[in-house]
Parts: sequence; C-alpha cells; structure tokens
Amino acid sequence: MHQIYFSLANNFLIIGAGLSGATLASRLSEISNSQIDIWDERSHLGGNCFTKRDDKTGVMVHEYGPHIFNTDKKEIWDFVNSYTPFRPYVHRVKAMSNGIIYSLPVNLDTINRFFNKNFSPEEAKLFLETLGDKNITAPKNFEEQALHFIGKQLYEAFFYGYTKKQWGCEPRELPASILKRIPVRFNYDDNYHNNIYTGIPENGYTDLIEKMMGAANIRIYLNKKWMPDADISAYDHVFYTGPIDAWFRYKYGRLGYRTVTFEKIYGTIDMQGVAQINYCDPDLPFTRITEHKHFAYWEKHEKSVSFKEFSKETGEQDIPYYPKRLYADKQLLLKYRSDAVLLKKVSFLGRLATYRYMDMHHVIGEALQFAKEFITARMNAELPPVFPNEELV
Ligand code: UDP
Repeated sequence: MHQIYFSLANNFLIIGAGLSGATLASRLSEISNSQIDIWDERSHLGGNCFTKRDDKTGVMVHEYGPHIFNTDKKEIWDFVNSYTPFRPYVHRVKAMSNGIIYSLPVNLDTINRFFNKNFSPEEAKLFLETLGDKNITAPKNFEEQALHFIGKQLYEAFFYGYTKKQWGCEPRELPASILKRIPVRFNYDDNYHNNIYTGIPENGYTDLIEKMMGAANIRIYLNKKWMPDADISAYDHVFYTGPIDAWFRYKYGRLGYRTVTFEKIYGTIDMQGVAQINYCDPDLPFTRITEHKHFAYWEKHEKSVSFKEFSKETGEQDIPYYPKRLYADKQLLLKYRSDAVLLKKVSFLGRLATYRYMDMHHVIGEALQFAKEFITARMNAELPPVFPNEELV
C-alpha cells in the first residue's frame, strides 16, 4: 500500500476508462485522498483492451482485436501483475504470402523457405545484406527502412500489401518507426516480440482494468459521453484521454485514424492452429485472422471463434484505432497542442489524446510517470503538466 502523501481533497475527472485512465485512476487513488470520477461513453470499461467471453463458445474474446502484453520494464510488469495474475504467452504469428504460409517476424525459417535455401545465421545475414538497397543510407520512411534492411523481395512479399491495406496509403508516406516494431532475426526464434516480459491476464483485460479502478474513492460512470459543452466546473482538474481533436470540436479539421472492423467466424476445436495469421497479399481485402482461444491456451473449449480483420479510414461514427500521423496530421496536431496548453485545468494523456501509436506498456509507463509529475507539481503549487510528451515534428 502506498503512503497517502498528497492530502489535498481534490475532485478529479478522468475522461475515458481505457488503460491510460485506469492507470491514472489507480495511482491517483493510492497516493491522494481525492475523489476520482471516470466517465466513459461506452457501456463497458477497458476501452479497446476490453475482453469478454463469447456467448457461444465460452472463449475469452479480445473484442477490439488482439492484445498481448509486453514490456522490458520490471516495474510495469509488477504493476499489472499486482492487480491480476498474468500467464506467460509468446505470440507466434504466421503470414500468408502468394498462397504460402511462412513464419513471421522474418527469421531464419522465413528466409530459408522463401529463398529455398539452408542458410546458417551468418550466411543469411550476409545474403540479406546483398539484397538491401545500399543507395538508401538513412531510411526516411517505412518503405526505405524495409528496402534498406531486407530488400525488395521480402518487402513486397510480407510488408507492401499488408501495409497498404492496413494504413490505406503508400508505405513511403508512413514513418519508419512502424516497421521498426517488428524484429528481423537470423535464427529460428519466431517470437513476434522482443520483450523480456510477455503475457496475457488469466481472467482477461477487463478484470485487470476493473481491479485497477476498484478503489473506494473512484466512481465510474459508463454510457456517459463527454461533450465539449459538458459542465466540468465541479472538478479541480480533468484528465482527458479521448481524441484531442474532439476536445476542440475538430475546429482545425480531423486527425487521420484507421479503424478496424471484424467478421466473426465460428468453427470446430482448432480453426487455424495458431492465434494469428496475417494475409499479406494485396488482393485479399482483410489483413489478418485471429483465433482467440490460442491467447488463453490454458483453457479448454469444444468450439472456436475467429475474427477476420478489415481496416478502413475512420468515419465520424467509427472508433479510432491507429493514428496515421501523416505530414498533414502532424501539422494539425501541433495546432491542437498549442491550444491545449492554454487550458490550465486539463491534461491530455494516452494514445488518442497524444495521437501516437502506443503499446499497452507505453501507455501504463507514461501514465505512471505523469501521475508522479502531476502530484509533484500540485504539491509545489506549480501548474500541472498538460502533456506527458514533447511532440517532435
Ligand atoms: N506489417 C506488415 N505485414 C505483416 C505484419 C505487419 O506489413 O504481416 C506492418 C504493418 O504496416 C503494420 C505494422 O507492420 O501496421 C506493425 O505491425 P504490428 O503487428 O505491430 O501491428 P498491430 O498488431 O499493432 O496492428
């Protein structure tokens, strides 16, 4: 139990019951005796991390797409495990390209099967070096990053089509950081992630988030949509985790997001033998199929359920998922951020409010740090921070 050292009886409002809001609520409730209200427009907690059991199969379903928890930081791993037990989980992804299923991320098995070779790790490394485009010295975007490190053939087979479907634009318009999420390996390790700690909460993410928000001084209001004209005068400070452009009634225009939709497919005991298969060919309209019983491999279910995932531009009624961060978006973002710093009583936190492609561990780490900085500023009677990050354009 943390010592209560922040004794001002503040009223805080957190808008959004996703992972940012939950982390902030849990930390503020532990280290202060404030009242914390959380509003969320949906009928459930957890934002896009929400999980629930499928009615027909009993499988724990990640309603808004697969979530695998990864981190290199022991304090973040300990933080989530302090609320609910996690089971170790290693994400192993397959990728269909030109009708053949390969292992992803690109590893020695992928390289050898794709080029019909039996390379050793050293030979594969040298071979890929010969394929990489040496005219690109400092890759400036997704496409250049790929061509420089893995060459045209692997790029076209696994990344070009998938990325175009996923993001709805040419990969050369996207930042190289998106590709850097995925490792390339010269051994047979097919773990999709590189992190030290990797797991899935045994009872689902909703259970984790419910427990994070379980303190007596936290009140949760579901189906409560924040609107720009909402009366927030009763609150000493507001933490907003929704889309930043919505806070300002989109006055400079809408930031670009991709959203995803799912087609549910029922099947017998094991539909695809693995949690995720990516479909990299551009002529197939979907990006991947995830079979959720494999995320909870410790459970037994007679039937199975999978989700075919489609990506599209986010319309006004759609849930924003992936911030595109194209050049024009970043210019808009700067304008919204300049307006935000004038507000004083409002802070902006998380994937939507800072408009960044963040993983769960980033979100939690940043919210924990932000809570600390906020409390310190409060105790020193200074203005609280508005954003957890600098925006680098
Ligand atoms: N990607 C790809 N082919 C794949 C998998 C990923 O081109 O088979 C690219 C694509 O642009 C994607 C990005 O790599 O958006 C990041 O992939 P990740 O699996 O991390 O995406 P997420 O699970 O967050 O949707």
